Amino acid sequence: MINVLFSARDALWPQYQPVLAAEFAKQELEVNLLRETDAPETIDYLIYAPARDDDDLGVFTNLKLIQSLWAGPDKLLRNTTLTQPLARMVDPGMTQGMIDYVMGHILRHHLHTDTFAQAGEWLTDLAPPLPSERTVAFLGIGELGMACAVAARDYGFNVVGWSRTLKENAPIACFAGDDGFRAVLGQADIVVTLLPATPATENLIGVEAVAAMKDGAALINPGRGELVDDEALLAGLRSGKLSGATLDVFREEPLPLDHPYWAEPSVLVTPHIASETRVATASAVVAANIARDVRGEGALYLVDPALRY
Ligand code: NDP
Repeated sequence: MINVLFSARDALWPQYQPVLAAEFAKQELEVNLLRETDAPETIDYLIYAPARDDDDLGVFTNLKLIQSLWAGPDKLLRNTTLTQPLARMVDPGMTQGMIDYVMGHILRHHLHTDTFAQAGEWLTDLAPPLPSERTVAFLGIGELGMACAVAARDYGFNVVGWSRTLKENAPIACFAGDDGFRAVLGQADIVVTLLPATPATENLIGVEAVAAMKDGAALINPGRGELVDDEALLAGLRSGKLSGATLDVFREEPLPLDHPYWAEPSVLVTPHIASETRVATASAVVAANIARDVRGEGALYLVDPALRY
């Protein structure tokens, strides 16, 4: 019997509890699934999407693994009491939702939907080319970025990807390093950032990146707010160098009402809704990953504390 503590917002417990119980049963694991505990030293696994930032994780002295319900590990890594192995969420339902969001906004920029909306002008010059005549660059081609890149490729776009390590035998043309970054930006009509927030990715979309982008390119950022130097992006949009931006994530969330993004006509703000963790598919992933660890097969999706993702 293992003790598993579910630590997340109250509203999530009634949704997850029955589904997790069923998934643990499928894994043939005997689990004592708890909502709270007076004996944190007895907890073996923590299913985690903290409602607060200052949890003391040091009290879980026998914890084998923290299984996050979030894909992005940045917020959890800021907790200085975290010493245990951390697995991030890789959820097929979340991936499907992200494909939906990214494809929707690629098509919005591709079709000039926002420019036509209430234009009051007969803008025949903006008849869209074929997707094969547009290049979409994905900065970050991990679980989410690669799934979206393949969806865009399958739709017909010319797709390129960029990551920290160069991908061999990938389904799209891949680049890495500083030269790769400039090469990818220089050819993309639409840039999608699906990178984690780490010291190495902070302000990646800054003055130099904006200058390296094609004239008239658009940015879609469902990754993290820290990836973007807001001043540099706004300057690029206001000068007409960039045609528009769809932003889902911000340094401060909710985005303050006086933030210039709200008033910038070429920016669409969405409220960190690009894709949520889905209870059914995520519960199956959680149970399978804990089962792997219990059986000594090693948990998947472990965050590297040095790389911070
Ligand atoms: P992964 O860890 O699977 O992929 C991360 C990708 O970023 C990898 O390709 C990795 O390169 C690349 N990368 C990391 N650091 C660098 C760097 N310094 N330079 C170049 N490339 C780098 O993450 P996911 O795809 O699962 O998620 C990506 C991010 O999406 C999350 O961290 C989160 O911030 C965000 N997200 C946002 C959501 C929303 O609703 N807005 C929902 C879910 C996630 P390599 O392949 O070489 O390791």
